[in-house]
Amino acid sequence: MTTIYRSTRSNHINMTASQAILQGLSPDGGLFVLKDFPNHYINVSEIVNLNYKEVAQTIFQLFLTDFSHDAIKECVQLAYEDKFTTKDITPLKQVGDDFILELFHGPTNAFKDVALSILPHFMDHSLSIQDEAKKILILTATSGDTGKAALEGFKDNKAIDIMVFFPNEGVSSIQKLQMQTQVGHNLRVCGIDGNFDDAQTQIKQLFNNSEIIAELDQANIQLSSANSVNIGRLIPQIVYYFYAYSQLVNNQEIQVDESVDFIVPTGNFGNILAGFYAKKLGLPIRRLVCASNENKVLHDFLQTGIYDARRDFLMTTSPSMDILISSNLERLLFEVSGQNSNLINQWMDKLATHGYFSVDSDTLKEIQQTFRSGYATDEDVKQTIQSVYKELDYLLDPHTAVAYKVMKEQEEFGYKQIVLATASPYKFTESVLDALNLSEDNATDELFARMSLLERETGFPVPDNLAELLELPILFNDCISTEEMSHYVLTHGKGD
Ligand SMILES: *Cc1c(COP(=O)(O)O)cnc(C)c1O
Repeated sequence: MTTIYRSTRSNHINMTASQAILQGLSPDGGLFVLKDFPNHYINVSEIVNLNYKEVAQTIFQLFLTDFSHDAIKECVQLAYEDKFTTKDITPLKQVGDDFILELFHGPTNAFKDVALSILPHFMDHSLSIQDEAKKILILTATSGDTGKAALEGFKDNKAIDIMVFFPNEGVSSIQKLQMQTQVGHNLRVCGIDGNFDDAQTQIKQLFNNSEIIAELDQANIQLSSANSVNIGRLIPQIVYYFYAYSQLVNNQEIQVDESVDFIVPTGNFGNILAGFYAKKLGLPIRRLVCASNENKVLHDFLQTGIYDARRDFLMTTSPSMDILISSNLERLLFEVSGQNSNLINQWMDKLATHGYFSVDSDTLKEIQQTFRSGYATDEDVKQTIQSVYKELDYLLDPHTAVAYKVMKEQEEFGYKQIVLATASPYKFTESVLDALNLSEDNATDELFARMSLLERETGFPVPDNLAELLELPILFNDCISTEEMSHYVLTHGKGD
């Protein structure tokens, strides 16, 4: 089978799709990317007649060349047949003159569900292609939403175990409860004393630690990743950019081939990178707007070409975007530098050792052809949630509010603007109540009372799977330091 993937950091490491998906991260510390990106491969006028699942199949065939047509169809069916509460999977809503692409109708109410509903099926099928006898252990760092979505996706899988590490003080109370109440025989959830970057860095080091890899290998275990560093996470996210576009065409909001802008609330750069891939495949995207919260390392980079992580890590009301090391930027740099692994190694070494790097002006110009950026403070988020609710009767979650604010300050007449809505407002009930000035007069510590209050006041229904959390017992209460993570993995990863 053809090895269509390679590492961003060396052209000696080559993989088929199933190998890349099972490995997750390249052993040289790089990320898997397509060797030859099929530029302008997709004809949009054909896509607009397809439903979500058909668009997905069309795109997956390009990226999963060692999967049969039937295998792809089966994965799509298993992931999207009945796990989402809407047949459209990612419905597009008009709000004022703009559009909001709702990505939160999956099992855990965040956009991570779109990819993590199908990644387990990609992995199961990859195991059968590779005839892999080892057990897979997935290590996941989460800023709040990936953890729960991955647990739901992989729970009770026969060949794959999963372990999730979340920042104990850095997620919303609903996000924490969602993870701590997770049921399944093959999983484990653990808080860490640290932030998302600490967890992600520690896990990347574990992947490159030959002693630990050897010890797990003796127990017949291979590590993999469900974070967006896994190419299997990014491929499913390309689909909804196309599907959003086709909904605009079918509602006669735009002509086929008219260019549109997407505004993406960004953390690890996975979601917006999928938009870049969609553009390369032929989707008429004019701009991709990267929206940051106050951890605005990406905004600063896109303005100046200097990526500087030497700054305080801030805890904001959009915790899933509290990240200073955005892993997937490496994949963008790989493309815009003309697949130059030497440069990627220089930049990533500099980042790892000095905490910053800067790109040359040609690279920056190339990036700025497509990318724009902006950021929002917690105060901006509050104002935005309030005004959009009052004026347009639409309830934004704090992450989507970051993007909405950035859209409004950059909007140009004549181009349709699509904001990606990444979470249900109920995952962040406290912040949303606070923005609507409802937290004071109804002081209650009780999470579910607060969710009901928000429902009563706004008329937006609490999603069933969040309402049900109330009934569930806490199953995981561990909290460890980041230094203890490798020991924890070795102790608990072998099935006890
Ligand atoms: C993960 C997440 C983001 C950031 O997405 P990236 O792919 O990491 O850029 C934004 N909003 C929410 C609600 C998320 O869960």
